[in-house]
Amino acid sequence: MILDIVTYPDPRLKEVCQPVEEITEEIRQLAQDMLETMYAAPGVGLAAPQVGKNIRLLVMDPAGKDEEKRPRILVNPELVLSGEETVSEQEGCLSVPMNYRADVRRWTQVHLRAQGLDGGFIEEDLEDFDAIIVQHEYDHLEGILFIDKISRLRRTLYDNKVKKWLKRKHAA
Ligand code: ZN
Repeated sequence: MILDIVTYPDPRLKEVCQPVEEITEEIRQLAQDMLETMYAAPGVGLAAPQVGKNIRLLVMDPAGKDEEKRPRILVNPELVLSGEETVSEQEGCLSVPMNYRADVRRWTQVHLRAQGLDGGFIEEDLEDFDAIIVQHEYDHLEGILFIDKISRLRRTLYDNKVKKWLKRKHAA
């Protein structure tokens, strides 16, 4: 089932998410629906708060358009950032309206710990695009959007655009 995506400035996107205590059938179904929603958008990652669920669950697939799918479901992920600082060019987000994009500082490597849907623990090192996606999605679980990481000037310009866009939308 394709879910509705929550968009900025919805306050739910600013909340810190709660740990998943138990991986129930409901959680498994939600994860599948999130993958379906992400592929339909299309996007490369989606976190639970983006579909209105305040829990530490995210899905991602770093595969390119012509590559075989590599869906991942991560429950209660924890990240240790390492490597070097890098610029994630023209990052975007399904929850940030008007297809806004900006360069964001990220790390080149991530040590990931998480649970899979079977409850088993995953521990691995991610690099490059995979590392950037997981940092972006993890930020959602902390109530952080990539636009929280851009310069104050860019953010103000963007916020003004969104305000105008919302006015037009509500007037229509
Ligand atoms: Zn996002």
